[in-house]
Amino acid sequence: MKRKLSAFVLACAAAFAPATANVSVRKAEAARDGAGAKGRAPRTQPAPQAAAAPQRDEKLWKRALALHRKAVVVDGHNDIPTIMADEDYDLGVPSAGKYHTDIPRLKQSGMTGTFFSIYVDRQYAAPDWIAKNYATRGGSARRALDLIDVSYRMLEKYPDDLVFAASAADIRRAKKSGKVGVLFGIEGGHAIENSLAALREFYRLGVRYMTLTHNNTNEWADACCDTSRHNGLSDFGREVVREMNRLGMFVDISHVSDKTMSDVFDVSKAPVIASHSSARAFSNHKRNVPDELLKRIAQNGGVVMINFYPVFLDEKVRVAALGRDEKLRGQRGELRERYKDDPKRLEEELQKLNEVNPIPNTTLSMIVNHIDHVAKVAGVDHVGIGSDFDGVGFLPEGIRDVADLPNITYELLRRGYSDRDVLKILGGNLLRAFDEVERVAGRRKVSGEGSLRRLGAAAR
Ligand SMILES: [Zn+2]
Repeated sequence: MKRKLSAFVLACAAAFAPATANVSVRKAEAARDGAGAKGRAPRTQPAPQAAAAPQRDEKLWKRALALHRKAVVVDGHNDIPTIMADEDYDLGVPSAGKYHTDIPRLKQSGMTGTFFSIYVDRQYAAPDWIAKNYATRGGSARRALDLIDVSYRMLEKYPDDLVFAASAADIRRAKKSGKVGVLFGIEGGHAIENSLAALREFYRLGVRYMTLTHNNTNEWADACCDTSRHNGLSDFGREVVREMNRLGMFVDISHVSDKTMSDVFDVSKAPVIASHSSARAFSNHKRNVPDELLKRIAQNGGVVMINFYPVFLDEKVRVAALGRDEKLRGQRGELRERYKDDPKRLEEELQKLNEVNPIPNTTLSMIVNHIDHVAKVAGVDHVGIGSDFDGVGFLPEGIRDVADLPNITYELLRRGYSDRDVLKILGGNLLRAFDEVERVAGRRKVSGEGSLRRLGAAAR
């Protein structure tokens, strides 16, 4: 045990060093969100610089590390499966400076449970794309299955480091065993291809949350950053929520429209989560949760897990990113046309373009401002962390990758949070909500009682 602790301290000793990583955007959460959703996003962004980090109080740092090591730490959202699938990335291979996540750094981070994002891009639901690619690449559900498979592959390859987790009890067991619990959450409700049976199969495979949409409105729920077609949830969308409650799967409101969020609160009998969303009070982005809905998550018993993406954290960064998107629209379009058959070169060229057009960054302190805000508006029982590691192009100064998570614990203690509240924020709140989701589901048959309804044109 002692040996482990010293390795952990060493691993974290570089905290607050200036960011040097220049991490690629895999999912381009960045540009798609920043630019207002339409069109292909640039896949890379440089890591901008922020102000110098404050001096660290070594005594407090030691206390933070001890507390962090004791905590059940749960991260609501990590996009590494997309990289594993698309680039044949082996999670056991150290990748600092390139990706935010690998097994050595997951262990350094003190992570107990991390939700791997089973992210399904909207293209897999686009009729034109499906018509062209279905035979070779399938549709939305197959994409989700591919990401689940590649995640299981890593779990099987590294049984001494990783352990599959699909319940609150599994997370607690992961803590006892000293392994990193890996959970699955689907990102983009179009993954179920309008089928409750498919939803149930994903549950069987271990999926424990689903964002009802990604940035795209689907056939039963409106998204944050797309046109509204259902005024929130359609009737079938309500049925999806009820079925998720029945199964014991978190309904995830990250990426949905405000009206969809509100409808979810009306329908859900179990706590909901926002697996990776921040507060709109600090960055006026539709991906963030406004105060009136933060209050509702308190009544619902759910958890808002703060996203670390600087555009969602800081209005100044959001405005700068928008301005840059406008300015570079034409040049990016030309590059996409020129390198349409060479995605690797396209990514490099887009990266270069961003590098010569830098935007300001924010700092880790801003993440904690969001935690403070949610704690103030919804209560300290309703906030957690949902990093979006490997789904965003850059991170705030002070948090380079997953290994830097203890810096958040330090900042919380520095601001006077009690040990008890820090433990809640790092993962205790998510565990409590998970227990409640499982209690609401009760002892049930996965298929036996479920509706066989399928979404037909008339039902939309
Ligand atoms: Zn997302």
